[in-house]
Amino acid sequence: MPRFGVHAMIWISGWGYADAERAITAAAKIGYDYVEIPFFEPEGIDVAHTRSLLRSSGIKAGVTLVLPEQADISSTDRATVERGAAILRKALHASVGLDGDYLGGVIATALKKYERGATSKGLANSISVIRELAREAKKSNVTIGLEAVNRYESNLLNTASQALKYCDEVGEANVKVHLDTFHMNIEEADGAAAIRLCGDRLIYFHVNENHRGYLGSGSIIYPPMFRALCDVGFDGTIAFEAFSTAVTSEQHAGAASIWRDLWSDSDDIAAHALRFMRERFSDAKCAVDLVAR
Ligand code: MN
Repeated sequence: MPRFGVHAMIWISGWGYADAERAITAAAKIGYDYVEIPFFEPEGIDVAHTRSLLRSSGIKAGVTLVLPEQADISSTDRATVERGAAILRKALHASVGLDGDYLGGVIATALKKYERGATSKGLANSISVIRELAREAKKSNVTIGLEAVNRYESNLLNTASQALKYCDEVGEANVKVHLDTFHMNIEEADGAAAIRLCGDRLIYFHVNENHRGYLGSGSIIYPPMFRALCDVGFDGTIAFEAFSTAVTSEQHAGAASIWRDLWSDSDDIAAHALRFMRERFSDAKCAVDLVAR
């Protein structure tokens, strides 16, 4: 069975002590199995503090991040690539310290609007850094997830097919694909087919409305994708993601192009999303679900 998770940025836009307490406590209280903790630079995570919160709340966590332009591992500038590799090592260390089994996000490139396509040298740099990260992660049973995002946020991994090819080139079994309905809505011809194409190489699934608001209030058609998740026996993480400037700092809102608010009540949208995702998964009536009943 998959676990149901929620991105901590539903509640917070930094990871100070109060932020950590707010997000972890709220996610656990609503009934989530898992909270996705963003790794912000240079703030990082006070691992001992966050781990103690997670343990006392009985909830699991993983770490995700997006690389900034000055730490783009798909750059052809050696110092830039090395800055990215250093951030990824720190984020991996944090995930391991939080008893986590996941490190993912927009990490194969920076998250930005590129003006040109990826170069072969840049691609080789990116693959080399991710391979080394994966080998380190393997020692702690951490899976690396590469999030395919839309063309305005990366020039390299926009579709499941591209992400799979990149994984093949890395050649490490613990490097897998992270899909997101918001991005799939822009780039995939058929979301369910993208999930089936990944099969057991899909590790993480972000559920996002097309406008980043309440699930079901936009144009994303969920049932075929949940049916596909069931059919491939998905046992990774299904995590809700949404953004609003009611919560998000100006810097983070700018990075995700959040210019108008679709919601303001964090607890309400998170509770609604958990009900929504569980219902869609249950409605898919796959063999896995029937056994669980
Ligand atoms: Mn996402």
